[in-house]
Amino acid sequence: QSLNQSLSELSDINVSFEFFPPSTPEMEKILWNSIRRLAPLDPKFVSVTYGANSGVRDRTHGVIERIQQETSLVAAPHLTLVDASDEELVDLAKQYWNSGIKNIVALRGDLPDGSPKPTRFANDLVRLLRSVADFDISVAAYPEVHPDARNAQSDLINLKKKIDAGANRAITQFFFDVESYLRFRDRCVAAGIDTEIVPGILPVTNFKQTKRFADMTNVAIPGWLNKQFEGLDDDPATRQLVGANVAIDMVKVLAREGVKDFHFYTLNRAELTYAICHTLGVRPNTNG
Ligand code: FAD
Repeated sequence: QSLNQSLSELSDINVSFEFFPPSTPEMEKILWNSIRRLAPLDPKFVSVTYGANSGVRDRTHGVIERIQQETSLVAAPHLTLVDASDEELVDLAKQYWNSGIKNIVALRGDLPDGSPKPTRFANDLVRLLRSVADFDISVAAYPEVHPDARNAQSDLINLKKKIDAGANRAITQFFFDVESYLRFRDRCVAAGIDTEIVPGILPVTNFKQTKRFADMTNVAIPGWLNKQFEGLDDDPATRQLVGANVAIDMVKVLAREGVKDFHFYTLNRAELTYAICHTLGVRPNTNG
């Protein structure tokens, strides 16, 4: 299939971009250059992570506020429930709603090591947010199964609970095995989940770090991916090109399989995400 053909089929693609709060002035500069570079692609929303248990919600709020003030982007904070009481979460939700923040990525968050078994889950947070206001709510989904889940079926039932509690869409953990996403999407449909299951795309530049993340989160690193990055540990320029190529191949297959919404884990870098969006036919909106 030619690239022209694929592009003509891909006219109504929606993208969203995820960022994390910078911890140094240098990283802040990189983040804002990336936001400015990606903003003209007119994403549906941009989200900003919050490190559960980090105790520094202010950093997430600071980035969200600045996005609201300096751009016309829709900003969605990530909100976790593990480290807050219901009362605190209701207060936060009210503050968000009153300051014009209507999109939230609702998560349980990871528990600190040695914590007792949790009794509250992300579906409880979705219900709580819905009780406060009519938020647009995204939740997390795991094509290769969340590491704490009893099994794939119970993890799927958990996703259904989050959607039934009022979530508008699910965003997946990153993956490299496109088949695992497609099978998961089929299982979601069979389970009666009728929202978008938005693939979370991680453009890889630092393969070693990606392998570490993948290991912690139960994400498979296929043999072909290892091969692609073999021998490039000290060659960031080539890794960047290979990473773009890998992600472009993935999104093309996904787009051909009817995926219309893509979420990008930008890691605060614009280059690869921009190039992948370009290939998907997502171009700067020059109409303002
Ligand atoms: P849940 O949906 O509550 O699921 C957690 C686990 O509990 C699953 O294994 C589920 O199967 C199981 N479970 C659910 N209900 C029950 C029950 N009743 N009994 C027993 N088991 C149950 N983390 C952050 O700290 N900050 C972020 O900003 C952040 N952003 C993320 C964005 C995306 C798109 C994704 C995919 C993940 C993100 N995470 C973030 C990671 C996330 O917080 C962790 O994966 C966390 O461990 C689970 O969160 P969840 O919302 O999926 O939890």
